[in-house]
Amino acid sequence: MYCQNCGSEIDVSAKICPYCGRIINISEVIQQKDTKIQEMEQKISELEQIVKEGSKSTNKAIKENLFQPWIFIFPVVFVVLFFMFFIILVAIR
Ligand SMILES: [Zn+2]
Repeated sequence: MYCQNCGSEIDVSAKICPYCGRIINISEVIQQKDTKIQEMEQKISELEQIVKEGSKSTNKAIKENLFQPWIFIFPVVFVVLFFMFFIILVAIR
């Protein structure tokens, strides 16, 4: 662990910092670790939200891709039916 006062790396079991002589407050260290854990949890939840939003947008993209061909197929089918109707009219004559 690191000294709260001077930031030097000190032994976990040390009660006094050998570099600056500050008394190591264990509860302070634990509190610092708790805030770090909370920060990590917040980051994880943020990442989870990003992943969820990402999957939502990909689902939307898939739906758009499924819908897109119909925009092109409908006019083509319409034109083909029109020509078939025209050819039938000519053939009947
Ligand atoms: Zn120190």
